[in-house]
Amino acid sequence: MQDDIRRVAESFKKQANVLAQEESIQHFEMQKEKYKKEYTAFIDSYEQDICYLCGKPFKTISMATPCAHWLLRRCKFKKKDFPKIVENYDFYQISAFLRWVANAESRVRNINNLKEESSDRKIFEVTIKWKNVEWTFDCSKNDFEGHAGTKTDFPHWHFQMRIDGNQFINFNDYHIPLSKDDQLKIVLENDPDSGFIHSFGPGGQGMQEHMDRFAESPDEFIENALSTSNPEEGSVHMQSIIRGPEDGIPGEKIDAAMKMARETGKTLAHCFRVVLGDEEGVSMSTIASPAESVPEIAKRTERKRR
Ligand SMILES: [Zn+2]
Ligand SMILES: [Zn+2]
Repeated sequence: MQDDIRRVAESFKKQANVLAQEESIQHFEMQKEKYKKEYTAFIDSYEQDICYLCGKPFKTISMATPCAHWLLRRCKFKKKDFPKIVENYDFYQISAFLRWVANAESRVRNINNLKEESSDRKIFEVTIKWKNVEWTFDCSKNDFEGHAGTKTDFPHWHFQMRIDGNQFINFNDYHIPLSKDDQLKIVLENDPDSGFIHSFGPGGQGMQEHMDRFAESPDEFIENALSTSNPEEGSVHMQSIIRGPEDGIPGEKIDAAMKMARETGKTLAHCFRVVLGDEEGVSMSTIASPAESVPEIAKRTERKRR
């Protein structure tokens, strides 16, 4: 049933390959520019509690124009009206909107799209938190293929929404169809040869992209990181292991690093690197891991098939 999607994906790849390098850079720049404009418009509205998608305040609900902003639950949105939203917006559109919203509130910290915490059986498994609301998007390989021999034999995803920690929409309430566009993006993203990486734009990054940045250029990452005394605010926990020479690290060097950390707000990992940089016989390594405050991915228990 997904043969046509695969065919479209194949032809997309061929087209992409023939695109001249120059052209593809131009395309990428245009896309970036478009996202930047959209994002600026989004932030302007967000700060006034207005939805950038429909132009109405977050607290209004109009049945004539179903909108993804209902999911923020600042309006009297009822669970039974959820299908109206997904008739108008597909998975990638809803994800982008909720990521932008979460990012505007607390950067990457409340977007858990960590691959490490997700099961191999999943196409995607992402939990996003914003204020008192938590959304989880879940799609297993079985969902993507469609549950054969049932009414839900079409490619779909599942959604959970909690308000103040209480269930509002359950994973099994809806089998939400993946749009053709969703399916194409998923096929391309899971094909290492396609060279396709979907971007959710400037406000769309989650913890995975954040951790990727550490892996790519740890020095830069550590240098730019700011330490926080409030554990609720951090996104990454950094642990440094310092190996000193036999006679130890001079106490005044340690004091200097601590003082620098206090005064600049930079992380200890960074300050030790600066202070102990040219010290003979000192080696340092830093391990970064997602902070405790990153919400856990809400897990869906799949029905066992007999
Ligand atoms: Zn709206
Ligand atoms: Zn399913």
